[in-house]
Amino acid sequence: MSFDYQLVVIGGGSGGLTVAAGAASFGTKVALIERKSELGGDCLHYGCMPSKALIQAAKEVHQANEVNRLDAAAYDQLFRSSMERVQEAVQEVQEHDSKDRFINLGIDIIEAEASFLDEHTLRVGDQQITAKRVVLATGSSPFLPPIDGLDTIDYVTNETIFSLKERPKSLAVIGGGIIGLELSQAMSRLGVDVTVLEAGDRILAKEDEEIAEEAGHLLSEDLRILTRASVNRVERDHQGAVLHYSKDGEDGQVHAEQVLVAVGRKPNTDKLDLDQAGVGTDKGFISVDATMRTSKRHIYAVGDCNGSMPFTHVAGMEGKVAVSNAVFGLSRKVSYEKVPWVIYTAPEIYHLGMTEQEAKAVYGDSLMTFKTKLENNDRFMAEQRKEGFVKVLTNSRGKIVGAHAIGEGAGEWMQEVGTVQALNKKFQAISNIIHPYPARNNVVSQTADLFWREKLFDSNINKALRWYVKNLR
Ligand SMILES: Cc1cc2nc3c(=O)[nH]c(=O)nc-3n(C[C@H](O)[C@H](O)[C@H](O)COP(=O)(O)OP(=O)(O)OC[C@H]3O[C@@H](n4cnc5c(N)ncnc54)[C@H](O)[C@@H]3O)c2cc1C
Repeated sequence: MSFDYQLVVIGGGSGGLTVAAGAASFGTKVALIERKSELGGDCLHYGCMPSKALIQAAKEVHQANEVNRLDAAAYDQLFRSSMERVQEAVQEVQEHDSKDRFINLGIDIIEAEASFLDEHTLRVGDQQITAKRVVLATGSSPFLPPIDGLDTIDYVTNETIFSLKERPKSLAVIGGGIIGLELSQAMSRLGVDVTVLEAGDRILAKEDEEIAEEAGHLLSEDLRILTRASVNRVERDHQGAVLHYSKDGEDGQVHAEQVLVAVGRKPNTDKLDLDQAGVGTDKGFISVDATMRTSKRHIYAVGDCNGSMPFTHVAGMEGKVAVSNAVFGLSRKVSYEKVPWVIYTAPEIYHLGMTEQEAKAVYGDSLMTFKTKLENNDRFMAEQRKEGFVKVLTNSRGKIVGAHAIGEGAGEWMQEVGTVQALNKKFQAISNIIHPYPARNNVVSQTADLFWREKLFDSNINKALRWYVKNLR
């Protein structure tokens, strides 16, 4: 049977662009289908890029306020200019993801919504195309919880918050996860009075408990955080909205001019007619094996739509594996053990592998935990950025099974642990690397030194060496 395309990619975001460009570079005949007029997906338009531009703008406003207290008029002005700056940043990065760039790679780009007619045939707008293989990379959207009255108020999500033109005086944020907290803190630093309502026992449910606790403590400088606060009803009022919540058996209310809903993600799979192709799902997310194949061997799914880990670098990693397997017929597998992520709050949070709670369940008493407080490191002391700590978890031989940190710039300097782990080196190897003093990653080597202290200095070998030096040298 002949097909219109060897590979059709649905979705022009981080995952889809990696696959389309990778496959085309090996001479595959590729069509990329994207329903929006621009490529780039969530990361570029409503995710990583605008949020990081906003966080940087908010940081500068915060610093300005520390030097010279800003009044309401100054905040209004700075809010407007920060939002303009966010749009400029997105436009600039958009050039990198321009359609021309991909057309020049030989890819046919079709602007349309795609759905399956059968396992090799797609409806693409008002035309039909056939594909030998398909990669689904349709991403995710904000999940809207079934809260009474939510549809009666003008709330924002990550898809609309970056279009705000005027500074709301107050913001209630439903959800204390990564997206909710990054945006909450940025808004607070832009002069918005922010209350976060989190239904769970703690914010940042996926983080190591100690890290989440420290984060809660540090973020409370900028935010009012209510945990175990479940929003059950919202309604309009003259200010904007009133949120009714229950917390520890008591009812409470939060009044806010604006509401941000950030309670998780739902996969963009409802329009795909996956059942026409016989592709299996789990709670709407497309089920895949480690080779990124769905229940149909010639159909793959990468990125947020498969529910693995909702990060751009994961979509990229899965996309590369899908290219090898779809283009060359290989069965390369992805592994998530070595995937770090960063939460870009101030201070930043770095996460790699298991939390201490997860690692204890696997390694029991043989788990080794090495911790250094930033207040014990010269650089953080010098900069008066002493809040936070590093925690690295290893097995008894030094194999890194988890690494976590909260602190100024942690997303950058902690990656040293991720790199060492990715190269299959032991944690203690970091002790042998000379770190320029006083670079912040000295705190990582300081933590690695603890491995030797525990293994060597408190051991029988050390006692024997001491005896030798004292008596025979
Ligand atoms: C506020 C926020 C901040 C974030 N910050 C970070 C960060 O700092 N670092 C990080 O790693 N990740 C971050 N993320 C997550 C990151 O944005 C996503 O993990 C990433 O965009 C997923 O890429 P994707 O290719 O799976 O999906 P997307 O980038 O969402 O692309 C999917 C594309 O498919 C299209 N599509 C969907 N259905 C169809 C259809 N039927 N037909 C045609 N086209 C279709 C969509 O229009 C979309 O363009 C953030 C997310 C948010 C919301």
